[in-house]
Amino acid sequence: MADRVFGHIPGVAVGTIFPDRRSLSQTGVHRPTQAGISGNKTDGADSIVVSGGYRDDKDYGDLIIYTGQGGNDPNTKRQVTDQELVRGNIGLVLSCDNGLPVRVVRGAKGDAAYSPEHGYRYDGLFSVTRYWSQPGLDGFLVWQFELCQFSNSVSQVPGLKLPASTETEQNIGPAPRAQGTVQRLVRNTAVGSRVKALHGFACQVCGTCLETLIGRYAEAAHIRPLGRPHNGPDITSNVLCLCPNCHVQFDRLAIYVDEDRIVRQTRTGKEIGVLRSAPKHHVDPEQLAYQKALCRPSTPDDTLIEPGDTVIQLVDHEGEMVPIIWTADEDQ
Ligand SMILES: [Zn+2]
Repeated sequence: MADRVFGHIPGVAVGTIFPDRRSLSQTGVHRPTQAGISGNKTDGADSIVVSGGYRDDKDYGDLIIYTGQGGNDPNTKRQVTDQELVRGNIGLVLSCDNGLPVRVVRGAKGDAAYSPEHGYRYDGLFSVTRYWSQPGLDGFLVWQFELCQFSNSVSQVPGLKLPASTETEQNIGPAPRAQGTVQRLVRNTAVGSRVKALHGFACQVCGTCLETLIGRYAEAAHIRPLGRPHNGPDITSNVLCLCPNCHVQFDRLAIYVDEDRIVRQTRTGKEIGVLRSAPKHHVDPEQLAYQKALCRPSTPDDTLIEPGDTVIQLVDHEGEMVPIIWTADEDQ
């Protein structure tokens, strides 16, 4: 198999229209002729096709909420089982974690506002900025990937060739170079500065105080993400003061804070510590519950809800994910 190319395909301009999936594949813009994601768990994902195949997709133009692959009945387009973190879905996670550019192709069956009238259009490079899983419109778990369009200045990433498999050790030599990409948007708002000051720049999860040449360094982490589709507020009760390590784990949903302020590892549930507090910093439990729901989504079938439990559910309301919080009946 040819090397997987990350970035633009030489000679293919943004906006180029292809009549069908076969021609897309032949030019290397998106090699699979059926799958929506070109990628695997070794290299990452290099391209996707957005063409209305999944009901949970959302297209905002420069921002796309893309549904992973699997569990979908091709005849009805409905989800029939939970999606798993395998194949192309892992590929997109790797591209997120490693800041790899993803070529986006839109097909005519996608959102009418941003899709070509016919065929498939190469729409340039996007970066995967976030991922999570949640119950989709059909009630089964879907993986969702937030993709942001690269700004024009960064979109000139030269084609970066990676070996198709890391099992071959022949490509020894200088590492291929690509322009650096921003993996996480670290916003430096007044709100964030205030929260960091209230904690003396100490991480609320692990207590780390990083010293740099100009003083202490910490990051302001929004608990419920800002922007679509989560629309978290930029206020101090929705912000934690974290070290970069804990910030990545929190944003990547590897850790969450439970109802008792215990920080836990998502994969194992293992206790990591207690969320540190500061007298003048109120942390909103509803926002923590929102982030936890992204970490540990559950479908009604596999949830054991005890009477008195607070349940948070994300539901689609006119294109925005809205949390519904309810308490299970005592006499249920
Ligand atoms: Zn930390």
